[in-house]
Amino acid sequence: MSEEFSEFGELLPEINAINSPYWDGLGEGEVRLQHCKGCGVNQYPAESFCYECGSTDLEWRKVDGGGEVYSFIVVHQPYHAAFKSFLPYTVAIVQMDDGPRMLAAMLNLDAPINIGDRVQPHIQAINNERSVLMYEPTG
Ligand SMILES: [Zn+2]
Repeated sequence: MSEEFSEFGELLPEINAINSPYWDGLGEGEVRLQHCKGCGVNQYPAESFCYECGSTDLEWRKVDGGGEVYSFIVVHQPYHAAFKSFLPYTVAIVQMDDGPRMLAAMLNLDAPINIGDRVQPHIQAINNERSVLMYEPTG
């Protein structure tokens, strides 16, 4: 856990019965997605039904989580005190190989990212209870 992320805690979504497997997975170092047994798609965020076909026959699966940059922005404004020490920071929409697109902060960038760059999950501990999914360049 890094001290610089300690103020992120208050910004995280509430854990509930539907999304808890996702957050539990991150806590155990895994990316997990909801998988529809009806049509086979993976989805995020978690819901009580499949966005694609409406089925409620869903299960959770561990996934690799890797993907490529679909879009990104570089943030220069301190929208929240917790982010101030990171300025400027990059937020990307990652097209996961496993299906959904994920909005996530990018870490460990040695150079600006580009659309289409390969990225891999970086599960970052925020405090003793929560970890979040961020991304970093592959390799
Ligand atoms: Zn479905």
